[in-house]
Amino acid sequence: MDNNEFRKNAHELVDWMADYFEEVEEYPVKPDVEPGDILAQLPNSAPQAGESFEAMFADFKNIIMPGMTHWESPNFMGYFPANKSYPSVLAEMLTATLGAQCMSWLTSPAATELEEKVMEWLRELIGLPDFFTGVIEGTASTSTLCALLMAREQITDFGVNQSGFSGNQDYTIYCSSETHSSIEKDVKIAGFGRKNLRKIPVDKDYAMKPEALEETIRNDLENGKKPTAVVATIGTTGSTAIDPLKKIGKLCSKYEIFLHVDAAYAGTALLLPEKRWMNEGIEYADSFVFNPHKWMFTNFDCSAFYVEDEALLVRTFEIMPEYLKTPEDERVKNYRDWGITLGRRFRALKLWFVMRSFGIDGLQKKIRGHISLAKDLTETIEEHKDFELLAPVPLNTICFRFHPNHIDDAKKLDELNSKLLNNIQRDGSLFLTHTKLDGKYTIRIVLGNTNLEKKHVEQAWKIIKEKAFELIH
Ligand SMILES: *Cc1c(COP(=O)(O)O)cnc(C)c1O
Repeated sequence: MDNNEFRKNAHELVDWMADYFEEVEEYPVKPDVEPGDILAQLPNSAPQAGESFEAMFADFKNIIMPGMTHWESPNFMGYFPANKSYPSVLAEMLTATLGAQCMSWLTSPAATELEEKVMEWLRELIGLPDFFTGVIEGTASTSTLCALLMAREQITDFGVNQSGFSGNQDYTIYCSSETHSSIEKDVKIAGFGRKNLRKIPVDKDYAMKPEALEETIRNDLENGKKPTAVVATIGTTGSTAIDPLKKIGKLCSKYEIFLHVDAAYAGTALLLPEKRWMNEGIEYADSFVFNPHKWMFTNFDCSAFYVEDEALLVRTFEIMPEYLKTPEDERVKNYRDWGITLGRRFRALKLWFVMRSFGIDGLQKKIRGHISLAKDLTETIEEHKDFELLAPVPLNTICFRFHPNHIDDAKKLDELNSKLLNNIQRDGSLFLTHTKLDGKYTIRIVLGNTNLEKKHVEQAWKIIKEKAFELIH
């Protein structure tokens, strides 16, 4: 492909992209494919001779598109959204075009300095205290891993970095039973061992019980363990439960334990002053993560990781081989030392475009709109005698189940709701997912897609009711 062809093909692609955004809600949100269907259409080896753009683009449309789940569709209300927006996609095109590596200041000075600035903007936007410094990581999973590694090096005085884990010392980590699965994965990767992860029980609203946390910490201390870090969640993945940060923070301060806050999804709601109560006690935190790549209209990947102690972070990760040394090292940020990877994408650009294009007002308006749509649907579900809410709705994730009057057997209700979800999925016009809360099969509906409107919510509720009543008639 030469430059002329690139220009022509790129224009064609942009037209396709604009059409896609316009038409996405007409696609079945989940594709009608079986495992292996796409694989069977792909050749076994790469082509010997180069192929034309036309051939590749045709296969993209004919083979790939029919096998895609459309996260961009406003009828996608499963998991948490992975939002994007026009400014974010445009920035991503520029990022790919520049192809810059952002590992040190010298490798892309503007990328480094823009990252520094947008992380300050974002910190202000969500009301984090100004002693936090931020860096963009790929995912919340990796941000939390960085936090746990910082905690590990802090408590061992950089001993594990130097000598590895030694002896039989158990370093214990605490989270709630509702915490995201990435915490357990990170605990394994960081070398603490799964047996040293304490999953603290939750209250009736699925938030961590601070008394149980303290009891567990004391018990561990009595048994010679070393309590190392607590991960508190603002907005759990199951039901967006909010752990009581202030009480947890006071305990961490009392027992000198590193506190990491996982607000991967709900962090976006902190843009609203009326939701800042969720972060009360944040001054006790050592680190904080939230993903603009979920609800803040910035396409994957973009995870904002904030730390109080920049020196601890850098000392945990720093490496200085001869070939990476530059004359400016003393005066600049070299983000390779702020996380796990050496090579880093230029992710700040899309965050900059998103914040500038929407403005603070535009961002707040969208988020408030989502929360308000969720409030209305919550009331509708609450009022319906055959449906039941299964958790509080502080934001825009509604946990509910179908519960007709005459069925009270726990197992039957689980089966009924699992069948309901399957039938909704199979239909393809709405995408929801499930969780288990207090052992109950729970359907989740998340109203956070960039282009979500009231009509989509009404349509979703109509489909849910139709599919539910089909099951009992
Ligand atoms: C989504 C989510 C994560 C994981 O986010 P990734 O960026 O995909 O790693 C972690 N914690 C919570 C609370 C989440 O909702």
